[in-house]
Amino acid sequence: MSSGPDAPSGARIAERARTVVPGGVNSGQRSIPGLTDLVVTGTGGARFRTADGREFTDFHAAFGPPLLGHNDPEVARAAAEAGARIGHMGVGVTEGEVQLAEQLVELIPSVEKVLLTSTGSEATFHALRVSRAATGRRLVVKFQGCYHGWHDSVSLNVISAPEKVGSHDPISTGILPEVLDATLVLPFNDSEAVRRAFAEHGHDIAAVIVEPVPHNVGALLPHQEFLTTLREETTRAGSVLVFDEVITGFRHDLGGWQSICGVTPDLTTLGKAIANGAPVGAIGGRADLMDLFSTRPGAPAFFAGTYNGHPSVVAAALATLRKLREEPVHAHVYRLGNRVRAELTALYARLGVPAVVTGHGSVFVSYFMPGPETPRTYDDLLANDASLFVGYRRKLLDHGLFELPLNLKRSHISYAHTDADVDRLLEGTEAAVKAVL
Ligand code: PLP
Repeated sequence: MSSGPDAPSGARIAERARTVVPGGVNSGQRSIPGLTDLVVTGTGGARFRTADGREFTDFHAAFGPPLLGHNDPEVARAAAEAGARIGHMGVGVTEGEVQLAEQLVELIPSVEKVLLTSTGSEATFHALRVSRAATGRRLVVKFQGCYHGWHDSVSLNVISAPEKVGSHDPISTGILPEVLDATLVLPFNDSEAVRRAFAEHGHDIAAVIVEPVPHNVGALLPHQEFLTTLREETTRAGSVLVFDEVITGFRHDLGGWQSICGVTPDLTTLGKAIANGAPVGAIGGRADLMDLFSTRPGAPAFFAGTYNGHPSVVAAALATLRKLREEPVHAHVYRLGNRVRAELTALYARLGVPAVVTGHGSVFVSYFMPGPETPRTYDDLLANDASLFVGYRRKLLDHGLFELPLNLKRSHISYAHTDADVDRLLEGTEAAVKAVL
């Protein structure tokens, strides 16, 4: 898109943005080739509009929060009403915070006590800090392909080039080498590698942090035996098991993936769908670990945040949970998700395109690789044809359909999507795939 005097307003606003905002966007994950002039002017339900007057059916869903659909009216009203009634004081507690904590304790198996943050990164940061405080140990274990936020201990080995798999692959400069050295990276779904790491380093492992379904590379479905091994090895070694349920929490089940798989971690981190898009994260878990946070007088693990428990976002979370509990949200998104996966699979077979469609519930992703086995490890994903993956998503834009055109990114269905939206997605995908073959 050009940015001359007759350029569409999106390009002009984006140009202004690049002058005053590095790269023109406020998150590294929003810097997307081909979308540099995307200026969003409105959202509603399953759609969003741009400054250039275009409307898209959105299957990206802001990386996952709006499970109910964009600016759900009841959630928006609850947040606005709270905002009109009570500002954020930053002292004491509000009854809304108590109600939210009570519900998280009730819903999520591992959560005996819980603290609110504003983001998922803060939650995972505190999970690792308190694990080190509790154990007096140095090392944390993460898995190739998992993302846990932007902080130093976990800023490595998310989407790695084939030659980088198996060694430290930081996603940022500026991290102290000794911090990177304190993180062991293991292959996901590889129980033997976990046993080996514990045999060698178990006495020094403070925590294992894992996305129980690594959705930051699409969807690697876990082997039940792998999650059980994590539980057994951490218990035996006295290490803390952290399930990062920032994506899976609420989206796949009100009790998170832990209530689907029956493996209970020591700590759970939450975010995204908890408040349908309002900035809320949480860390919860065993009372003896949570009681180490400095919100208890004299406790050693410092925990703070000016905006933690902000009344408007807490009201958004309470309204979201009310709707998730009272309406058939999960039944709806699971039905549409199953339909998308089945019908995309049939479509690719009819077109003769080697593809595997996977995911769970409302999350789906088409990998362009020989099937039929569902990929279970990061190494499996190296067979994905990245140019087809990104190329067909770029073409989808021409059909008013938005799946993020970045390699390995998952797509989401919300309560606001309809069968007609799925019909449009299937038609658009057929046209887009044919165009790039
Ligand atoms: N954990 C997981 C699994 C995530 O997907 C993300 C963000 O995408 C985070 C943590 C970090 O959350 P936030 O971006 O709210 O800091």
